[in-house]
Amino acid sequence: MLFDFPDFDDHELVLFGRDTATGLSAIIAVHSTALGPACGGCRMWPYANDTEAMRDALRLSRGMSYKNAMAGLPLGGGKSVIIGNSRTDKSDDLFRAFGRVIDSLGGRYIAAEDVGITVADVMTMGQTTRHVAGLTGGHDASGDPSPFTAYGVYLGIKAAARHKLGADSLKGVRVAVQGLGNVGSHLCQHLADDGAVLTVTDIHADNVQRAVDRFAAVSVAPERIHAAEVDVYAPCALGAVINPRTLAELKATVVAGGANNQLETDAMGEALRSAGVLYAPDYVINGGGIINVSAEVTHAYDRESVLRQVERIPATLSEIFRRADREARPTSAVADEMAREILAAGKDGQKKAAA
Ligand code: NAD
Repeated sequence: MLFDFPDFDDHELVLFGRDTATGLSAIIAVHSTALGPACGGCRMWPYANDTEAMRDALRLSRGMSYKNAMAGLPLGGGKSVIIGNSRTDKSDDLFRAFGRVIDSLGGRYIAAEDVGITVADVMTMGQTTRHVAGLTGGHDASGDPSPFTAYGVYLGIKAAARHKLGADSLKGVRVAVQGLGNVGSHLCQHLADDGAVLTVTDIHADNVQRAVDRFAAVSVAPERIHAAEVDVYAPCALGAVINPRTLAELKATVVAGGANNQLETDAMGEALRSAGVLYAPDYVINGGGIINVSAEVTHAYDRESVLRQVERIPATLSEIFRRADREARPTSAVADEMAREILAAGKDGQKKAAA
């Protein structure tokens, strides 16, 4: 039963969209609109079954509520999934059909790109709904969010290094960057500019070679990056990289990177804390991208003010670190609690405005 799903967590609505003519099967999950219209990416993935697709939509949607709340944005949390193979099942008609499903919510959900979905796909959805974001053309288009994500992650690493290592600058601080794609490569540039000593990895040799050449980085095999002799481990590729196996081999005392869903389970938050590792909660440190998208949604795109907002990420992280120390609790649990407090205050505000 949907309402009993562990990930349901009082979602405001879940919409199942089907269009037989184009083969569309999609789920839109809106966790909360307490702070504004729900905004989150659309993922296209060949889920093994409908239950797996629904679980992913619910989990990701709540994650967006927390991320948007902690970034101080006037946006709620939502996410959508299209069940299908992004290499073989895409068509313009399918995305136009999905645009109509989004449109039926009248703006309660705004879609952007996520795994398996490109900006071009979102532009096609935009032919049948105006409730899309993260575009590259047109008035207020915010473009590639990755440089903003990377800038926030860099500032977050500095805040974490200050808190844990007492380091006022990153000069000489050893950082292992896992994944040298959009976020990881921009992050390396910031870190290198600050004098950090880089260890890097990627599954693509050309990405690794570029980082070695440009930043005098040392490379290690992808499956050994978590065990590198460094101060900071910065996951910028996959999720679930913090698990009992990697934690047993971790040398870093700070985990701070751009990847989503870094903890394999919630219990890894406490496991990191008791191992003396400071964890910068992923959805807080990687909020720079959604801050950039938000400026497009609110039709107030201004690069400088986006940067000023991204620069608030370290203060939020420092507050989490201090509260976690004070209460002897995992930073991940403290961040979740702070996000829920912000959402509850937003809900109260909505109720008062309606009364
Ligand atoms: P990307 O696809 O551009 O880069 C990911 C890189 O990781 C690729 O170069 C890939 O080859 C590499 N990789 C994949 N598997 C690997 C492995 N096992 N070991 C080492 N490297 C591996 O993606 P991105 O946009 O840079 O995003 C990276 C992470 O940050 C993702 O978890 C994403 O969800 C998250 N994130 C991105 C943004 C953004 O603005 N792009 C915002 C928030 C969160």
